[in-house]
Amino acid sequence: MIKRLDHIGIAVQNIDDALKFFESALGMKLDHVASEEGGKTDVAFLPVGGSEVELVQTHDAESGLGKFLAKRGEGIHHICFEVDDIQAAMAQLKENGAQLIDETPRVNASGMQYAFIHPKSAHGVLIELYQKPNP
Ligand code: ZN
Repeated sequence: MIKRLDHIGIAVQNIDDALKFFESALGMKLDHVASEEGGKTDVAFLPVGGSEVELVQTHDAESGLGKFLAKRGEGIHHICFEVDDIQAAMAQLKENGAQLIDETPRVNASGMQYAFIHPKSAHGVLIELYQKPNP
């Protein structure tokens, strides 16, 4: 059910500051920046090979990401796998007793469906599942 590693999400305090490292020092190319969750979250995508690095910044200290940053500081926040059928993947996870954060997939600005698996069920890793919109 898992097709590929789509991206690794890195929690940062400030995307512009983080880009100084990822673009200038590491030489990666910024693909795009987007605002998500009604402006609460900004994301920046930097493709590398067939995957991407996603820098995530929040403007809401009470959000999951805000609490993560307050508690642990910047760092790897989640990994994201692309799936063909997110509904089927979520059903299979539930059948296997995994705890999901989202009961139904959320949809982002690009029409991508996504859902998170609780780190308690995934050996401490927050896992995001992604299904691309049908072309
Ligand atoms: Zn992500």
